[in-house]
This record gives sequence, C-alpha cells and structure tokens, in this order.
Amino acid sequence: MSKKELKFNSRAIHGGQIPERGYGAVMPPIYQTSTYAQSTPGEHKGHEYSRVSNPTRTALENAVASLENGGFGMAFGSGMAAIDAVMKLLDPGDEVICTNDLYGGSYRLFKQVYAKYGIKFLFSSMSDMGELESQITQNTKLVWLETPTNPMMNIIDIAAVAKVTKKHRILLGVDNTFATPFLQRPLDLGANLVMHSATKYLAGHSDVVVGALVVKDKKLAEQLYFIQKSSGAICGPMDSFLTLRGIKTLHVRMQRHCENGAVVANFLNNHPKIGKVYWPGFETHPNHKIANQQMDGYGGMISFVPKGGNYDEAIRIVEKLEIFTLAESLGGVESLVGHPASMSHGSVPKVEREKNGVVDALIRLSVGIEDVDDLMADLDQALN
Ligand SMILES: *Cc1c(COP(=O)(O)O)cnc(C)c1O
Repeated sequence: MSKKELKFNSRAIHGGQIPERGYGAVMPPIYQTSTYAQSTPGEHKGHEYSRVSNPTRTALENAVASLENGGFGMAFGSGMAAIDAVMKLLDPGDEVICTNDLYGGSYRLFKQVYAKYGIKFLFSSMSDMGELESQITQNTKLVWLETPTNPMMNIIDIAAVAKVTKKHRILLGVDNTFATPFLQRPLDLGANLVMHSATKYLAGHSDVVVGALVVKDKKLAEQLYFIQKSSGAICGPMDSFLTLRGIKTLHVRMQRHCENGAVVANFLNNHPKIGKVYWPGFETHPNHKIANQQMDGYGGMISFVPKGGNYDEAIRIVEKLEIFTLAESLGGVESLVGHPASMSHGSVPKVEREKNGVVDALIRLSVGIEDVDDLMADLDQALN
C-alpha cells in the first residue's frame, strides 16, 4: 500500500518517511551536517549542501506535504521566513490583498519590509466576494488569507475566494496555522499555497520555531525551492526532527484540543462574568455554516470579553490565571492565554484594532490538552 493512499492519521505518523538506510532507524535521524562526501565532482547520494537540502529536513518537508495533500513541501527557520519566501515571488508594482485581522507579524512584514520594495498591500474582510473582486487590479498577484482569523475567529470561505482568484489568474495563499491540515486542507479547496507556523500546532510542544510551505504545482514549487536555497532561511536538522516528532501526534492532540475547546467555549458562554465569546463552533457564530463546510472541527482557539470589562480588568484576569500561562504563541499541549491589545496587537493603532473587534478587554485562549475540569476551575477562579 503506497503511503499516498493512507488515511490522515496514518500519514501523520508515516507520511514522507522511509526507514533509514544505514541501520534501519525508525525515526529519521538528525543529520547534523552541513555537507556530504562526493565520489567525484557532482556525484553524491542525493544531498550536496544542507542549505539546499538535508535528509532530516526533507523528511519533514515530505511529511507536511503529505498532510496538506500537496506534492511539494519546504521547511523554513520560522513561519515568517516561510511567508517571506512567498513575498519573494513578487515584483515591484505587484499588489497583494490580505485578510483584515492578519497575524501581527505578517502585517509588519508586509507594511514595514515589503511595502518599501514597491509591493502594495490592500486589506479585505473577504466576507463579500463582490467587494474582494472590486479590489483586484491587473497588478494583483496574490491573495493572502488566514482562517480562522486571529484573534477574532472569523471564518473565510476558502473555496469562494479560490473561485475569484482562479478567474483572475491570481495566486491564493492560505496561512493554515490555526486550523492545521487535521481540520482544514486549503489546497483541496482551491488554494495554490499553504503556509504554516509549525511553531504552533504542527510541532505542538512550544519547543521550536519553524515554518513550512506546501504547494501542488511543480513550477511554483521550483520557484520556491530556488528562493529557499538562494535566501537560505532554512529549518535546521534538530528543529526538523522535533517538528517531525510533534507531527506524529498531531491528530491525537488536535482531537483533544477540539474537545477541550468546545467544553471551555460553552463554559465561558454560560458564565455570568462573561460578555462575549468568539468561537466558530457556536451556531450563533456568523460564519458557523462555512466553518462546518470547510473544517472538520473548531479547534482550541477561543477569544472572549469579560462582562463590562476594560483594559485593567483583562490584565487582572490574565495575571490571575494559573494553569493558562500568560505568553505569546499558541498551539502547544499546554494552555496559554494572551491579551491581544497589549501583546500580539500592541503595535496596531487602537482605532484600527477596535474596528476589527480587538477591544482592550479581549482575551485570547489557546486551550491545551490538560484535564478540562482543571482548565474550567482555573478560568472560574480568575473570573471571580
Ligand atoms: C505565529 C504565527 C505566524 C508566524 O510564525 P513564526 O513561526 O512565529 O515565525 C504566522 N501566522 C500565524 C497565524 C501565526 O500564529
């Protein structure tokens, strides 16, 4: 049975991995080497220099490609380095349309690094395809979307956007960090490019910073491999190994993230001290239907606003939480809490962020896989 035919949960463990040739090691070894012996110039065993390729990194790249149902994967030193490689596909004068509440680091890379190279960034809610189409010009080369969005948990209809980008022959890239391929596979929905901050759910243990891209098209893959080896922002062998190890339990972790997320979301929704909860699993969530169409679950990311809460109240709550650790990042086995207004979105002007719903009192949870009773007890003591 070819590995391509295996179901997702089996591919999480075996995808892209072949038994090691020397000793039959079950885990791809950490090939901590920069270079490879050649018998005569140009004669080697598949790798010549580790910026270009490294067996441990190749195993990771193949594993992520397999999970996203794409043919080609590239692993980078961070999620931002992966997005940076995508930006290098563009030329001065090109235009990119992005989702409104974009990851803060992506917003910074676009507006403060690439804008000065003559690339123009436009923003859209992507909730109205007519509006999205009206923003497209002959210079538009890429639509870049995130769903669920951070931290408002809006859901964007990937297939609907893909229909628009196909019609106008524009690339569609999806940052799939929040959903992971366990819940959502953008290439199957018509995207050209999937990106991950593997730092989050893919690696899953808050111990590495890694990024990944996956594409189906061979020509696009060749362009990206060229950028990867030319710019050199690669993922090292040790981090590739750790990410591969994390991926082997992705399906089990995601299942529990979803279960705990649902319990915590409902607990908060029924809590007397809570004003509003943002989670795509609620039937009242404005994009609940799209979530059901394109996702296999709702994940473990939840945002909420305490009743009548303000900046100080939100700070008091995040300080008081004990099991939920106050920290940047998400997607690890441990529960984390963040205060977007002062942390991830601190550099976004207050009017801008409040337009998108990121008010001073908003709190974001990454629900981990601890016992959910302990998580609810922790939230309860902090809220009271
Ligand atoms: C963290 C994150 C990134 C950036 O990834 P790094 O690995 O931190 O460079 C990009 N997009 C989203 C949605 C993220 O959460």
